[in-house]
Amino acid sequence: MTFSPSNLSAFRSTAFIGLGSNMRDPDWQVRQAIREIDEIAETALVRISSLYQTAPVGILDQPPFVNAVVQVETTRSPHDLLVELTDIEQRHGRVRGEKNGPRTLDLDILLFNEWAIEDERLVTPHPRMHERPFVLVPLLEIAPDVFIPDRGFARLILATLDAGDVHKLDDGQPLAPTH
Ligand code: AMP
Repeated sequence: MTFSPSNLSAFRSTAFIGLGSNMRDPDWQVRQAIREIDEIAETALVRISSLYQTAPVGILDQPPFVNAVVQVETTRSPHDLLVELTDIEQRHGRVRGEKNGPRTLDLDILLFNEWAIEDERLVTPHPRMHERPFVLVPLLEIAPDVFIPDRGFARLILATLDAGDVHKLDDGQPLAPTH
């Protein structure tokens, strides 16, 4: 069920979720995950970025990724939201492999309000988001004035990075050949 933001109760949080995939039809994985995020109870999808094809970081010898960012409004707690996102990852057959390695679907809570959360299950702002053009470019598309607590305005941070490997995909455009 989709709630319109106006149906949500007073204690409403804004969260940004990063999506990424580079296995088993990444374009479909990301689009389908967005539909599933829309189904999360007490959570309304507010904005959806374009999909972007991005070069892998860390392990370079793997297919390109498809990345996107969505904004939601939710009355759920951050940890509840994380559980829902982990369920979606698992439904997409996520197997935890090597760090920065290939993945069917990766969902990260980038920001939850401007809260600094740090425990064994959840860290927000996501600790590496400010280093990643594949996060910042789609994020800025839907939230040009977004501020990353303790880091600064995302647009100023992006200006210091090389976003040359982040390419917007047109709606429905098939992925370019991998190699
Ligand atoms: P990954 O394998 O990269 O998807 O990392 C998933 C693990 O990171 C999970 O065990 C989460 O509990 C933890 N985690 C910590 N902070 C976050 C966050 N902001 N978003 C998603 N997962 C997080």
